Amino acid sequence: MDDCIFCSIVDGEIPSYEVYEDEATYAFLDANPLASGHTLVIPKAHHERVNDMPATVAGAVGRTIATVAPAAEAAVDATASTIAYNNGEAAGQEVPHVHAHIVPRSPDDGGQPVHALFGGPGEADDAELAAVAEDVAGQL
Ligand code: AMP
Ligand code: ZN
Repeated sequence: MDDCIFCSIVDGEIPSYEVYEDEATYAFLDANPLASGHTLVIPKAHHERVNDMPATVAGAVGRTIATVAPAAEAAVDATASTIAYNNGEAAGQEVPHVHAHIVPRSPDDGGQPVHALFGGPGEADDAELAAVAEDVAGQL
């Protein structure tokens, strides 16, 4: 897609630090790493959000994440990784080409779990959980 920075990276028009490539996906270092080894995994085809990926593409991205995450951890002697999507503008997505962040983590890195984004775990009673589950399932 024209004017998409990640499509330009896939096409080789913008340089990147490649770590993995296959037919459907590409993985490269984030230029502004949150930790050493911070890697982005993208589909080669342009899809704006997770919601927009066909199942085959989403499956390929998932496989690449599972391949690259252990390698990124091992490369920097990390013991874990935070794997996350900013899925849409309101969630903080700045580049509108779907990408998974793999950020290597260590016990003493001072980082937080994803729950910290929302100030900790929330609360809901069984009735509310049941109603919301029904609403979500009804949208599938
Ligand atoms: P997000 O806020 O989830 O859209 O994150 C976009 C990420 O892309 C940020 O972490 C940026 O540092 C990263 N980024 C933007 N441009 C480039 C680039 N040319 N090469 C590598 N990473 C990039
Ligand atoms: Zn794109």
